[in-house]
Amino acid sequence: MLTIKNLHASIEGNEILRGINLEVKAGEVHAIMGPNGSGKSTLASVLAGREEYEISEGEVIFQGKDLLEMAPEERAREGVFLAFQYPVEIPGVSTTNFLRTAVNQVREYRGKEALDAVKFLSVMKEKMKLVEIDQKLLSRSLNEGFSGGEKKRNEIFQMAMLEPTLSILDETDSGLDIDALRIVSSGVNKLKTPQTATIVVTHYQRLLDYIVPDYVHVLYNGKIVKSGSKELALELEEKGYDWIKEEAESAS
Ligand code: ADP
Ligand code: MG
Ligand code: MG
Repeated sequence: MLTIKNLHASIEGNEILRGINLEVKAGEVHAIMGPNGSGKSTLASVLAGREEYEISEGEVIFQGKDLLEMAPEERAREGVFLAFQYPVEIPGVSTTNFLRTAVNQVREYRGKEALDAVKFLSVMKEKMKLVEIDQKLLSRSLNEGFSGGEKKRNEIFQMAMLEPTLSILDETDSGLDIDALRIVSSGVNKLKTPQTATIVVTHYQRLLDYIVPDYVHVLYNGKIVKSGSKELALELEEKGYDWIKEEAESAS
């Protein structure tokens, strides 16, 4: 589904990603972990198509197509969901209206008929139950004044509605309480299918008590320096990252 080959990316002349290789197949959940500042959010941002990054080398192929050539909205239409693609607060636009437009754009692109207001509402109700989100939240302006947990809930709801093929979730290092972790993880678990894949970028070993990843990768200094199964996350929980840094430095 997704192949990242030798990806290098810089911002303001500083190379942050220094040769990332990753292969994600349908049905898999990959966790990307690593110490602060290792480049996790940069990787997620580059996959999202944020413009401030310069890609100096490498490629990203999603379902046979060059992802890096696509504008962020094209990536979404192709079935890539990036949690922080819509983090902005949009006063006056309710989550419901925003999502109806987004969902219908994706459906149109995939050759399905648009959902009218009635059908959209019934799909929404079904997904609301699935991710345990309150209707009140959805009638408020998008993300405006949302708490950290509400933003997360909304993000997972958007994911449920858009039915992406590949979801990339960046759990930024601050502001996530235990409820938010639970929301993200139960959403990811419930939305998992054999046809879809998820990349969870996280600083928290704790998240992986709830989401069981098929693979865990450790990013350090812009490279994936170690990959393993879910046991690797437990080992990191116990031993921290120092041994990873030592291994990486003695290997280079
Ligand atoms: P992580 O998500 O793993 O904590 P980030 O991807 O956020 O790491 O950051 C990786 C590195 O890139 C950090 O050292 C950070 O300081 C640096 N970085 C991020 N943004 C910029 C920027 N605009 N200019 C220079 N360096 C940056
Ligand atoms: Mg960080
Ligand atoms: Mg980060």
